[in-house]
Amino acid sequence: MQADLVIKNCTIVTPDGLMENAGVAAKDGKIVAVGSSDALPSGSREIDATGKYLTSGIIDCHIHNREPGLEYKEDWGTATQAAAAGGVTTVIGMPNCIPVIDAPEHLKLKFEKGEEKAYVDFQSYVVITSDNATEESVNALNEAGCVGYKVFLGTTIGAIPPPNDGELLDAMHAIAKTGKRLGFHEEDDEILKHYEAQFIEQGLNDPIYHSWSRPPVCEREAVGRTILFSEHTGCPIHEFHLASGSGAQMVLDAKKKGINVTAETMPHYLWFNEEVMRDKGNVARIQPPIRDQIEQDMLWDIGIHGGGIDCIATDHSPHTDEEKGMDDPFQNTWNVISGFVGLESEVAAMLTFVNDGKLTLEKWVDMHSKRPAEIWGMYPEKGSLRIGTDADFTVFDLNETWTMDRKNLHSKNTATPFHGETFKGRATMTVVRGKVVYEDGKVVGERGFGTLVDVDKMPWNSPRKLTEPRAEYKQYT
Ligand SMILES: [Zn+2]
Repeated sequence: MQADLVIKNCTIVTPDGLMENAGVAAKDGKIVAVGSSDALPSGSREIDATGKYLTSGIIDCHIHNREPGLEYKEDWGTATQAAAAGGVTTVIGMPNCIPVIDAPEHLKLKFEKGEEKAYVDFQSYVVITSDNATEESVNALNEAGCVGYKVFLGTTIGAIPPPNDGELLDAMHAIAKTGKRLGFHEEDDEILKHYEAQFIEQGLNDPIYHSWSRPPVCEREAVGRTILFSEHTGCPIHEFHLASGSGAQMVLDAKKKGINVTAETMPHYLWFNEEVMRDKGNVARIQPPIRDQIEQDMLWDIGIHGGGIDCIATDHSPHTDEEKGMDDPFQNTWNVISGFVGLESEVAAMLTFVNDGKLTLEKWVDMHSKRPAEIWGMYPEKGSLRIGTDADFTVFDLNETWTMDRKNLHSKNTATPFHGETFKGRATMTVVRGKVVYEDGKVVGERGFGTLVDVDKMPWNSPRKLTEPRAEYKQYT
């Protein structure tokens, strides 16, 4: 057999372990061989990756690609070029676009724009509000091919109001029957609005007050409520962007009770603590906010190592420099928008943590490739190195030390607190379905090559089966 692409002489990393002097072969977009370098077939293109590592493609299940409707911030093309350059092979877009992705025709539009422009594979969430919290609407969105559902419990970018709690229960009963998962922006709207108003009234306008207006209890109230509703309805849920270790503790406790809840955190919650608001100002403003050292320590211990957190994503949120107030990072925080880009720093940040001994390569790959695929019904087509599945690979150098300069980023807007940070580790090549889309520091993929991951037609498993909680949590039930 002649393969299309062979990558060899590297170290393969899977959640189960490392294999040295090994490689992979791809043909017609699928993996046809994985094993020791000598045992691989020949390929039309053969890459000697000596000194490098290779893993199943990294998945970012939380990005704001901003299209349709907010292309002045970002579009599918620029977001997925950033993904390719960051070593990310699949992204899942958020629904706070214009139009809001709350109806089958809006989801169709989002998919069409992705097919037209994307450089890596993609999917999208749909949002549930008072207007579509019925079984009929939930089913129509499922049939339209959404990867899962989202509710914004706290006010954030796009100002999409949540359904009331009764409507939410209706929607959750309906979503439970689809086999898909409902993710939350988990912040208590009344708490954050109360403190924000109080601080504004008192003239407390420094960037740190944005963080303090949304304290851990604001996040934990919403985590607790969503877990209770999941227990009641049987609806599988996901906590997006968990920032607090005390919140991760609640997720872990719920898993031990057998509740089907998963959670993600972001590199910025693990890398910075709230002092970044004093050091770098509003560029680090995000919702939920970056928290203090005690919460961050708990996020590592209880979240990453204790099992409270399942996966890593970025909340990649491009805004213009004007919206981010980049001319004066310490200006009145209430005039500045929340969110920043992350697709090109996530792999590097996680590899830096590996180099610092904070987690193993196996654990990182589990959290950044396998688990997001499992949670969102894409595994093992995505997130594995299994023969016959999509040939998505992230190749990386674990030793390269480099400092991020935002002017080298591929997003349309590039404000990020990671500008100026030094990493050890970097993605050097990105392969999507057997095609190299990033190498030698350049995006070499084609616009429109990226395609929708059809989670309703996965060849290996049904989505319902894939949303089961992990076996190790079942022992507690
Ligand atoms: Zn987000």
